[in-house]
Amino acid sequence: MKLFIASLVFAASALHCMAQAITPLPDLTGDAPPFEAVATNIVVAVPAASISTNLLGIGGVVGPLPATTNAPQPVVSDVNLHEANLPKPTSSSRVCFSSCHVSGPYIALTFDDGPHPENTVRLLKMLKERGIKATFFCVGQRVADHPSVAKRIVEEGHEIGNHSWSHKVLSAMTDAAVARDLERTDEAIRKATGVSPKLMRPPYGAFTDRQRDWAHRKWGYSITLWDVDSQDWRNPVASYARSRILQGTGPGSIVLSHDIHKSTVDGMPKTLDALKAKGFKFVTVSQLLALEQEMLSKLPATPGAQSYADRATKGRPAKVSTKSTAQAR
Ligand SMILES: [Zn+2]
Repeated sequence: MKLFIASLVFAASALHCMAQAITPLPDLTGDAPPFEAVATNIVVAVPAASISTNLLGIGGVVGPLPATTNAPQPVVSDVNLHEANLPKPTSSSRVCFSSCHVSGPYIALTFDDGPHPENTVRLLKMLKERGIKATFFCVGQRVADHPSVAKRIVEEGHEIGNHSWSHKVLSAMTDAAVARDLERTDEAIRKATGVSPKLMRPPYGAFTDRQRDWAHRKWGYSITLWDVDSQDWRNPVASYARSRILQGTGPGSIVLSHDIHKSTVDGMPKTLDALKAKGFKFVTVSQLLALEQEMLSKLPATPGAQSYADRATKGRPAKVSTKSTAQAR
């Protein structure tokens, strides 16, 4: 087992160490290189009095530790949340993000460019059989063509997001044209499902910083990118996408696949089962955001905690692609 320290925060006369315990697992798929699985996330509070002065200066602990005579006893707590106790999603302050900071093995699977009358329906059945919730970034035109599939996505507990009307490069369009495109898509989703999307994913991830801020202010969208790209559009062999997903996914990951490709859906049972075997728990993107909010709210209000929250809010560097492949992303 390896222990990776995520953050060190000094507060209340103790050093709070947030870490991830990683347990190596053998390759479960037979076609992917060996990978590691997250066993758990832990928080340990170590009383200041018991910390060696050798620790001074590492990982954000700066300056001398104050002497204390009534330091609390060491506390070890598993901060994993049971699925039944997931926090309720609320509107997020995150403008744009590609992953979340969560204190548990939670991930969000996302499927783009549907709904597809056959492949999306097959995928929904696979997800239902495994009790997995996902997020579907739908193209407005396809929602209008297949409203019953869009309705089923929502009825079965998945989240639905706006992926533009016809998959154009929004960063090359005027604000007025983008507004018409997104509002038309929202309307089609509302008409088919009765819900208004809180999430928006620009095709190819192509949305300027200014557009991200503008869309967040105007419609409240959280612009949702990804940190794991299956590249299932690039290679129709299912094991290619599976290998990329299994190698790249970690706690808080947002995984990108496409439910319009038959090969993607064909390979999904094995991928889902392998992710489950690694201990991952599947939530929607809004649930992942809510888990992040909940974790951040539990951090002590110290300068160290502030910097951690700040990092989480900014997220990892957003990926922007200008690829013009019609069905990519
Ligand atoms: Zn797309």
